[in-house]
Amino acid sequence: MFGGRFKGVFGTLSIKDGMKSPLIPSPHPSPQRGEGRLKGERSVPKKILVLGSSNIDLILRIPRFHHPGETIVGENLVTAFGGKGANQAIASKRLGGKVIFITKLGNDHYGQSYYRYLIKNGLDQKWILKDKKLPTGLALIELNPKGENRIIVSPGANSFLSEKDLKRFGPYWKEIKVFVTQLEIPITTVKRGLKMAKEQGVLTLLNPSPPIQLSSDILSLVDFLVLNEWEAQYLTGLKMERDKDIQKMADRLLAMGTKNVVITLGPKGLFFKNETVAIWMKVFRVNVVDTTAAGDAFMGALACGLAENKPIREVLKFANGAGALVTTKLGAQPSLPSRKDLKTFLSRRVI
Ligand code: ADP
Repeated sequence: MFGGRFKGVFGTLSIKDGMKSPLIPSPHPSPQRGEGRLKGERSVPKKILVLGSSNIDLILRIPRFHHPGETIVGENLVTAFGGKGANQAIASKRLGGKVIFITKLGNDHYGQSYYRYLIKNGLDQKWILKDKKLPTGLALIELNPKGENRIIVSPGANSFLSEKDLKRFGPYWKEIKVFVTQLEIPITTVKRGLKMAKEQGVLTLLNPSPPIQLSSDILSLVDFLVLNEWEAQYLTGLKMERDKDIQKMADRLLAMGTKNVVITLGPKGLFFKNETVAIWMKVFRVNVVDTTAAGDAFMGALACGLAENKPIREVLKFANGAGALVTTKLGAQPSLPSRKDLKTFLSRRVI
């Protein structure tokens, strides 16, 4: 329950602190301390709903990017579970979030193994949908020795995660506190999800990745827009040359309708802004092994922190820690930290 005070990762926190800014809405007003719940009144929702993609990542290390018509030999193929939706859902789940993940897999062996894997990771099978005709989403990832990549995404079943699929979720919205989505599924489905969430008073988070131009009617449905600096440049059309430009990009995104902006800056940390507060935060210094899924770990942790009503600075620190920890291990989902690991990391580290 989160009425009054509760004990979280950061000690005893006051709900009021977390909701200090009027622009970080309290999605469902909590009953005050001592205020009993009336018969038939709905319980306070706590769950995180992630709507998004599941992809199989086929990763090949190659000596160099080759020419058309040329054949080269790569290292052994690495097959991994990926997709932004799944990464963010599992990131939240590992950090203790009560997560529901709506996704669509294909009718192939990849879909079958992904299905088993998601269930093994504690996600409810009811919302792991299957398309009868299309293959599971796939990403072909080439990595050269400089650490650069070339990626081809085949969306497969992800492109058929539809508004109709979301309709079935109707009665379950009452359990949801935070809604999280990205852009690896059709934009019409993203928009419908955001709209339904807002109608239910749910806090909405959008990670506009991969970026497309977004109109104000979508951005005005977003409580937290969470994006990296490249995505921010794409969406705003502004260039990032100095720190001042990051502020400008955040202001532009706020003017386009979102209530809060978080711009993640890789090794340079993050910038948060809403109408009343601006926060710069540096990264935790770590030995970086692989930055894959840093943004997804960050997003999953942000959703978790917000679902727990932590104050905004604590939420950002929690997400910043998750983003840093994931860079210390190879791979995407295998390197997503548990709540225990993140708690230990944060208790020992100062930025
Ligand atoms: P994306 O993966 O979407 O490109 P970023 O690279 O901006 O996102 O990283 C997201 C977050 O992960 C950062 O804001 C930071 O918290 C953490 N992070 C990323 N790179 C590093 C790094 N080199 N050292 C520590 N933390 C990092």
